[in-house]
Amino acid sequence: MTTARIENNLKKIKSQLPCNVTLIAVSKRQSIEKIQAAMAAGQLAFGENQVQEAVEKIQRASGEKIQWHFIGTLQSNKTTLIAEHFDWVQSLCSLKHAKRLNDARKDRPLNILIQVNIDHEASKSGLDVSEVRRFAKALRDFPRLKLRGLMCIPEKDSDAFYRMKSLFDEMNAEGFELDTLSMGMSDDYGRAVEAGSTMVRIGSAIFGERA
Ligand SMILES: *Cc1c(COP(=O)(O)O)cnc(C)c1O
Repeated sequence: MTTARIENNLKKIKSQLPCNVTLIAVSKRQSIEKIQAAMAAGQLAFGENQVQEAVEKIQRASGEKIQWHFIGTLQSNKTTLIAEHFDWVQSLCSLKHAKRLNDARKDRPLNILIQVNIDHEASKSGLDVSEVRRFAKALRDFPRLKLRGLMCIPEKDSDAFYRMKSLFDEMNAEGFELDTLSMGMSDDYGRAVEAGSTMVRIGSAIFGERA
């Protein structure tokens, strides 16, 4: 995939997104050259799911305005590195990890999305909808974490995007002050945006197939 191709893909995807929707370029298992091509094309936010791989990239290709989003499964022995190198964690669903991230974080608070297992899939992490409010309240005990919203990775072709949007709206009506609903990937971002997503996480449609 050439630089021009990545630039074109970004342009095309952005032209399809309403201006209130943030595009996260999911760069997991993509080369540093491709990431730099996306940065040169003006892309500022990147998503990674492996801590070690991400930290190397962050050290090589960072910039003042560049934001890194952790979108993978959290592990206790990686929380310090995440707190040190990332701007957002989109996959929080345990208080143990919340405490570890909070304890390790310095400077600005870490932006947090709660991952919701919206389709009750055994293979996926995330909280059940019934647990999200209590968890969101518990996060108030952690001053270095700033709860921004919710994230999900639904089953193919489910109506999960609409159920997530309802949960998001209900929580805001209850006073949670969430501003970010992260849903939509290469294959389904159109439907996610239609349902009310404010952040899409797109990898292969920007960078091509992963290594
Ligand atoms: C890999 C990944 C994506 C991007 O997937 P594509 O299908 O390549 O767009 C988005 N979100 C999460 C959590 C991922 O792990």
